[in-house]
This record gives sequence, structure tokens and C-alpha cells, in this order.
Amino acid sequence: MSDNHQGWRYKKEYLDGIEALENIHLHDEQIGRQIRAKSKKCTPWKLDKAQQSAEFQDPGYPVYKTTLDVCTCKDFVLRRLPCKHMYRLAYELGLFSLDNIQSSDACRAVEIFDYLLKLQDDWIARQKEILREKIEKNDPPTKKFSLKRQNSLLREPLHYAKDWFFCVPQYFNDALDIALFSIEGEHRWSQGSTFSFSAGDSIYDIPFEAGRPWSEDLKTLNICLEIEKASPVDVLGEGDDAYRFPGSVECTVFTPDENRQSIVARGQVTMTQDEFVRMLITGANEKISPFLPTKFDAKGQGLLF
Ligand SMILES: [Zn+2]
Repeated sequence: MSDNHQGWRYKKEYLDGIEALENIHLHDEQIGRQIRAKSKKCTPWKLDKAQQSAEFQDPGYPVYKTTLDVCTCKDFVLRRLPCKHMYRLAYELGLFSLDNIQSSDACRAVEIFDYLLKLQDDWIARQKEILREKIEKNDPPTKKFSLKRQNSLLREPLHYAKDWFFCVPQYFNDALDIALFSIEGEHRWSQGSTFSFSAGDSIYDIPFEAGRPWSEDLKTLNICLEIEKASPVDVLGEGDDAYRFPGSVECTVFTPDENRQSIVARGQVTMTQDEFVRMLITGANEKISPFLPTKFDAKGQGLLF
């Protein structure tokens, strides 16, 4: 269940796609690892410059042994592509620059998104533990499990994020579970994971400007998604059986016709709300990719298809 939301990122075709790129280090997923490689937490505790190897230790995890070709961490074992440790090693050896890596809105959002989902899994596990303790002590059982909120937002609440693949304006705040809460009299934005895109929502990959005619929009638009059916993220089941249901979204995919005179329905795709939100940020999704043009220059950098 817990790997559902990102399982496709470890699929062979997807990874082969990254590997086939002329410069894999420019792919979104790899840039995310370079950003993490730069962090203080990712400082090697042993570095052997002569052997070009290093060892890393995160508190609570085993020691990772890293060379320029392999690493013993789970990320490398699953993907067989450079992990953050390998990037950091290459950087320490002066072979790879991390200086120009900037955390773009989209990269940051992906990090926040992945962290948010991990948080929910851990949170439900913790609630189950509390429930078991209560049962042992004959205390009244916990009521329905809740999901946790955090302060880091997927995007600014009052704007769309310029470098997300899709344009997701502020009227989708509810759907993205970005909400204003009053904490001790202070209003604060917070981010939840109860994503709730719903039937009738239309999402485009370009922003619309007031007064600009549709014929102009058609010149730059690549894709439009119209949601036909959806169910929101929710906690289902009770007690030890409780789990976070990642929701579902069924949408029709529209792309422009050859002459960019109109948009044409090309097919339907179904995915979880989790997958949907991640796709809105990165544009990368194995179900959507067949509908996208194969080349992106100005936009969609990091897209592999
Ligand atoms: Zn590694």
C-alpha cells in the first residue's frame, strides 16, 4: 500500500527512460538527489580520495558504502542510477559540481510531497501503536484515525507555481489540501495530504491571462485534463486495519489538434490522487506521457519522454 504512490518511479521503463537521456544528471529526479547531496546531513563520515570511495551514516540507518559506480543504499539498489551519496562523493573528489544546483519550486514541491506521504504512513503506524497500548491497558480505544498536517506547503497559497508542469491556480488550494488554520489566534497556512480533486475540474499546462483569446492559448497549450470522476484521499478501515486510501482520479486527456485550432479528447486515464498531484508538479507520469509531445525545450525540462 505505502509504495503505491511512487511505485511507478521504480519501474523498469521509467528508469530506462532516465538512463537513455543524453545527460541523466539534468533529470528532475536526479536534480532532487543533487540537492539532497549538498545538505550537511549528507556529509561523508569517511572519505578515501585515493580509492575514490566514501561511507555515509544517517542516524538510525546502516552505514552506506559508496563508490563512483555503486552504493549500498536502498535508493541505488532499487534504481541503479546515481544516488545522493554518489553525487556527494563525486563532489568531494572534485569531479562533479553541485554549486549551480538550485532548488526550483518543482523540485522543492516534490521533496515536500514525498516527505508528506511518508509522514502520513508513519503517523498512522504511530496511531496504531497508541491504540494497541490503550487496548493493553483497557483504556477507551482511539476514535477514527486522522492524517497529519505540516507547515511546508507544496506551493504558495496565492499563486500558481511557475515551474510546476501544470498550472494549478489558487482556486485549487482545497483540492491540494492547502488550508488556512487558526492556531492560538494566529492564521497560518498548512499542508495536508487529503487531496480532493473532483469531477468537473479542468487543469491546463499553461496559465490563462484575462482577455487573451482561446486561439492564442492554443498556440502554447500542450495538454488539458478534465476530471470525470474522483474520490478523495481518506483514512479507511479501523484500528489495526486502518490505512490511508490514496484516492482516485479518472480524467479525459485533451491535446491540441495538428493545426492547433482546437483541443481533441485523446483518451482516459485513472490514477490515485497522490499520483495525480505528483504529476501536476513534475509532468512525469507513465499514464500521461503517451499523450505528451516527445520534445520539450523551453518548458518541461527534465521530462524524459
Ligand atoms: Zn547511496
